[in-house]
Amino acid sequence: MPTTIDLRSDTVTHPTAAMRRAMAEAPVGDDVFSDDPTVNALEARAADLLGKEAGLFVASGTMGNLVSLMAHLPRGHEAIAGATTHTVMDEAGGHAVVVGATIRAMAERLDGTMDPQAIEDAFRDPHDLHEPITGLVVLENTHAHTGGRPLSLGYEREVAAIAHERGVPLHIDGARFFNAAIALGVGARDLAEPADSVTFCLSKGLSAPIGSVVVGSAAFIARARRARKLVGGGMRQVGVLAAAGLVALSDGPDGMVARLADDHANARRLAQGLASLDGVYSPGGLGQAGDGPLDPERAVTNFVLFRVRRNRAAFMGALEARGVLMVPYAGGSIRAVTHHGVEAADVDRVVGAVADALAASA
Ligand SMILES: *Cc1c(COP(=O)(O)O)cnc(C)c1O
Repeated sequence: MPTTIDLRSDTVTHPTAAMRRAMAEAPVGDDVFSDDPTVNALEARAADLLGKEAGLFVASGTMGNLVSLMAHLPRGHEAIAGATTHTVMDEAGGHAVVVGATIRAMAERLDGTMDPQAIEDAFRDPHDLHEPITGLVVLENTHAHTGGRPLSLGYEREVAAIAHERGVPLHIDGARFFNAAIALGVGARDLAEPADSVTFCLSKGLSAPIGSVVVGSAAFIARARRARKLVGGGMRQVGVLAAAGLVALSDGPDGMVARLADDHANARRLAQGLASLDGVYSPGGLGQAGDGPLDPERAVTNFVLFRVRRNRAAFMGALEARGVLMVPYAGGSIRAVTHHGVEAADVDRVVGAVADALAASA
C-alpha cells in the first residue's frame, strides 16, 4: 500500500527535524512574566519581518483574530469583513460571543476583494444613535474561498485609506500571509505596511506544530496581550513551541518561508493535471464562477478548488481508497492544498488517482 498523500490542508504538515532539535534545546522561562527568551525572540522576529513595533505569540490563528478584535473593538462596535472570511464563518462566532461586536458581512468578488465603494458605504453614521459604531475593517490575505487568492498591495492600500480617513484601523487575517507575499512578488514588510495589525499562522504552510503571531504597534500588542490572558492563552515555558516558529521564520536552509513557492508551483501543476481530466470542472462560486472548465491559472498560491461531474461523496470515497485525501469545500467543490512534503511526483500520482476515482464513481 503506497503512503497516503494528504491534501486536506497545509495544517497536516509535521515539524521538521531542525524544528524538533530547536524545540528540544530551546531556552525557556515563564512567558506570563515575559521571561521566555525564545518566545521573546519569535515575537521580535515576526514584528521585524512585518515591519511592526511588537508581536504576540498565540495558540492559533483563531486566537490571533480574536485577541486582535478584542484589542481593536470596544463592545457594541462593528467590523466590516468579507462574508466568506474565516473571521465571519469559521471562528464559532467569537466576535459576537467574546468581543461583543457585530460584523457587517460584505459581498466579495472573484479576486477576493470587496468593492471599495461598498466598504465606504458600509461605514455607519456615528451620529445616529440607532447604529453600531464601525470600529475595524478586516481583510483576509490570502483569501481562502476564492482559492487562496492573494490581495494586492494596491488593494490593501485603497482599503486602508478608506478606513484611516474615518479613524478606523485595518486588521489583516494573514493566516497564509507569506504565501500572499511570495505569490505577488512583494516583500512581506511592504504587504503588511497598510495594516495596523496582521496575524499569520506558523502551523500551516510554515510547518510548525502550533501557533500564530499577531503583530502591530506596541500599544495594540499590549491590549492584545491582556486579551490573550482573558481567554486563557497566557502560557508558561512556551519557548518549546516558539522555537519551531523561529526555525520556520529563519533565513537559510531550515527556514520555511521561501520554499512556499514550491507549494505554489505544485498547486499549479495539480490544477493543470486536473483540468485535463474529463469530469473535472470549475469550482463555481468565489472559486471560479460558472460551469465551464477548470482554469488552472486560478491556482496562484497553494489551493486548488474544483468540482467533479460525479456524486461528490462517492468520488471522494473512491479517491481515499486510492490513498489521496482532500476535503469537501464551499458550493459543492473539493479543495486540495499543497504543502511541505508533497513533491511534484506526488502531484502526478494524485492526478492519476483522481482519474481512477472518476472512473470508479461514474
Ligand atoms: C486557518 C485559518 C485561520 C485560523 O487558524 P487556526 O490556527 O486554525 O485557528 C484564520 N484565518 C484563515 C484565513 C485561516 O485559513
